[in-house]
Amino acid sequence: MDQNKDLNQFDIPLAKRTHLNNSNSILLKKLLLFSPFLFLLFCIFGLRLIRNIEIGSLGNFNFQDQRNHDYRILGHLPYAEISKEKLVLIEPNIEVHIDMRDSLLKMRDEAKKDGIYLVFLSGYRSINLQKEIFYSLKSFRNQEAAERARVSAPPGYSEHSTGFAIDMGDATKRETDFEPEFENTDAFKWLIKNAAKFHFKLSFTKDNKYIDYEPWHWRYEGSIEALKVFESSNRKS
Ligand SMILES: [Zn+2]
Repeated sequence: MDQNKDLNQFDIPLAKRTHLNNSNSILLKKLLLFSPFLFLLFCIFGLRLIRNIEIGSLGNFNFQDQRNHDYRILGHLPYAEISKEKLVLIEPNIEVHIDMRDSLLKMRDEAKKDGIYLVFLSGYRSINLQKEIFYSLKSFRNQEAAERARVSAPPGYSEHSTGFAIDMGDATKRETDFEPEFENTDAFKWLIKNAAKFHFKLSFTKDNKYIDYEPWHWRYEGSIEALKVFESSNRKS
């Protein structure tokens, strides 16, 4: 009985080992038999994965592109026309957004105290007026749209239609009105030093790649509405 019991104890592991060995070799044979199919499946899944990654990154790129797309036309961003009730007349022919009136007038007064005489040349311009400026001057000067856009915004794309833009000159140097030479005037030098105190910013600096340098053109960023209007432009520059 004891001997049998001992034998049984040895037999079971042996039987188990044989069984395991057999099943292992069957599995191996099956694997070898199916290996070409498995390889094929692996290739198919691999290719699909690569394709998905490519599509995914392409999708991300498009998404990024959409986010970065700012709807510029010839380098100008679109601007909606201000509603008439927000416009105020600050002097004959010069209307501006009510938000910027006090700051603009205060800036002119402060400049005067320093012996600088600022002249307001152009404030709010309707989209219709911009249409006339852009199209009539363009044909008059025999310029193509892209050339003209370097010095004038297409209608619907001018900061002037928001009421937050102001073109300024030097009262003692009127020959520099709307000219790059305005940058050599005392008025411009004063503006560079002081305009930010009144929340004015030069819109088209020398490093703007689309639009020519306009030292006379400043925009107001001293209210939430103004900041919202120029948010896209500030993100880009
Ligand atoms: Zn301007």
